[in-house]
Amino acid sequence: MTIMNGKEVSKIRNLNLKQKIDKALKTASRPPSLAVILVGEDPASLIYVESKVRQAKSVGINSIDIKLPESISEVELIKEIEKLNNDPLIDGILIQLPLPKHINEGKMLDLVHQEKDVDGFSVLNQGKLFQNRDSIISATPKGIINLIDHYGINLEGLNCTVIGRSLIVGLPISKLLIDRNATVTTCHRYTKDLISHTINADLIVVATGNINLITADMVKDGVIIIDVGINRIGKKICGDVDFENVKNKASFITPVPGGVGPMTISALLENVYQVYEDKFLK
Ligand code: NAD
Repeated sequence: MTIMNGKEVSKIRNLNLKQKIDKALKTASRPPSLAVILVGEDPASLIYVESKVRQAKSVGINSIDIKLPESISEVELIKEIEKLNNDPLIDGILIQLPLPKHINEGKMLDLVHQEKDVDGFSVLNQGKLFQNRDSIISATPKGIINLIDHYGINLEGLNCTVIGRSLIVGLPISKLLIDRNATVTTCHRYTKDLISHTINADLIVVATGNINLITADMVKDGVIIIDVGINRIGKKICGDVDFENVKNKASFITPVPGGVGPMTISALLENVYQVYEDKFLK
């Protein structure tokens, strides 16, 4: 059994990215830049934003952290997004989710210019992904594929079960697996008899936010497990998989923390570089 070490793999990817940025700076007039918008003071969001900003800086991305009050109106937030859209010094814009309830999340995400949409959440980038056109791919599904590739797993012909059908994880990873010629079953909270879809799967991606949703009796020997879930028990974080028992049957498995999470951040930073490269280096 191999534990897929997202922490280490992301370090390697971040180092490669830093080298690319250092090289780019020999000809480009400025480093890549990322603006992160945080509305309100949700403690988990604050931690995510700080981590993204810190890691962006560590690879040489100039990161600007824009903290806005919970009470901000939609109109005011639109103005902030437009300002960043029109700022030639900003390459990527990220809106930390969730937004407060009085703000229409989809509408705000769609306002981010498609060329600055480094989260790949806008309807344009998602539409392009589903039509096999060049697009910015959401960081979590992109990070999962990078991790699978790092371990040399050939997805062609594999039976893959994705559990979760959200726009940010379940649906795009289902599409990316199909693009790699896997056969994909996408499950969700209304799926009957979940085990019938997991027991023969060669690879399972689980992204639901349910502790111990996947247990050892639900998987076959040699299964590959990608656990995207983030659940908190007190100060501890765990995924959606009963890791200690499932790992004995798996050929490859991601831990939580230290699996998909760090891969997501490195994929986000790579998206920022992709935008910058298109602007300055092509
Ligand atoms: P979401 O709430 O938008 O979607 C959850 C999905 O899980 C839904 O499609 C729902 O139908 C399905 N689901 C819920 N309970 C189920 C059950 N009992 N059986 C089968 N399907 C079930 O969540 P999301 O934004 O896709 O995130 C999912 C999880 O992944 C969360 O724990 C989130 O914190 C985590 N996450 C992690 C990263 C990362 O970088 N590691 C990134 C994004 C999300």
